[in-house]
Amino acid sequence: MKISDVRVFDGERVLPHRDVVIHDGVIAQVTETAGTAETAGTPGDVDGRGRTLLPGLFDAHVHLAPDPDAALRLLAGSGVTTALDMFSGGEALDRMVRLKEADPPHLAAARTAGTGATAPGSMLEKLAGQPLPAVERPADADAWVDARLREGADYIKIIYDEREGGPLSLATVTALVRAAHDRGVLVVAHTLAEQPAREAVAAGVDGLVHLFVGEAVGDDFGLFAADHGVFVVPTLIVLRGLCGHRPYEHLAADRRLAGRVARSRPPIPVRPADPSRNHLYAAATGALRQLASAGVPVLAGTDTGLPTAALGVFGYGATLHGELELLVDAGLTPVQALAAATSAPARAFGLTDRGLIRPGMRADLVLVDGDPTRDVRDTRDLVAVWKRGGGLDLTEPGG
Ligand SMILES: [Zn+2]
Repeated sequence: MKISDVRVFDGERVLPHRDVVIHDGVIAQVTETAGTAETAGTPGDVDGRGRTLLPGLFDAHVHLAPDPDAALRLLAGSGVTTALDMFSGGEALDRMVRLKEADPPHLAAARTAGTGATAPGSMLEKLAGQPLPAVERPADADAWVDARLREGADYIKIIYDEREGGPLSLATVTALVRAAHDRGVLVVAHTLAEQPAREAVAAGVDGLVHLFVGEAVGDDFGLFAADHGVFVVPTLIVLRGLCGHRPYEHLAADRRLAGRVARSRPPIPVRPADPSRNHLYAAATGALRQLASAGVPVLAGTDTGLPTAALGVFGYGATLHGELELLVDAGLTPVQALAAATSAPARAFGLTDRGLIRPGMRADLVLVDGDPTRDVRDTRDLVAVWKRGGGLDLTEPGG
């Protein structure tokens, strides 16, 4: 199959007028479009004129429980061909691990942190309504990490948050980082305030899976993160929810997404808008701008899934398109935002077979009308999505 005369965003750069040939599920060739008249309209080709081809998108922070099949189908149908789960357990995790291995053509590919590290009696444990495999002391770290790898985790997530994770000590965080690194796996941290974020970074985590809320951020945060070589998944869409905004309504109002914003049944009570909290979003956008100018890899992620449903974040896939807009609103260029959803997460998580449009890469591709490298919202104008070269059914899920 060939997509002809298309603008390519290859994960890093914009390449106008390209022909992209797909063969056996991988990208076989990317060449400049020759001539004009006779190339367009070859039977079987996909006409790329006026359109942009992107690597399949990533959501670098989702929760796929309780129904990973449904979540991964919604993601794929929205152009998100790889999803990084950041805490799931129980039966949903078993199912996710099976899906990860099978990598079915109609579902987004998945990777998972498995169960996140919390202290005994944490709020997450109360939410889960059952005991979680908690970690109490630094001496537990090796056995705890081994148990996660046995249950199918691809990387380790630490909840370093007084409220949600319980009193996980910094010494335990440090021990978990060492245990993960000894086994050659990445470790990421959930923090929601600047101080714990800095402590987790100093303890050696590879990435933060949230930025944080607050009135301001320290001037050196970007350089501090760059010095430690971390990546950051800001999740602006959920931070905006914490700051009294209603991101779900904003997305549902876009006709291109309306049918893709999943309605939860039964409806989950959504927090009311609270303008008195809006100023707390400043720390997140200030930190993001520092990270971008310090060259810290920024990854697009949304935290879509059960824990955030009360904030109104429950449209798998649709929310990723919303996050891209928020990243641009906060100061990234559209090209930086698109890299955050393609090449940057692929590199950060070592998924070296995707995230770029280059010969030999998986043919996980998204074709959209318009030019999202100028107006990032054009990612919503989906024309086609391919996973390993197979075209997906983009029929919108029933309202
Ligand atoms: Zn999360």
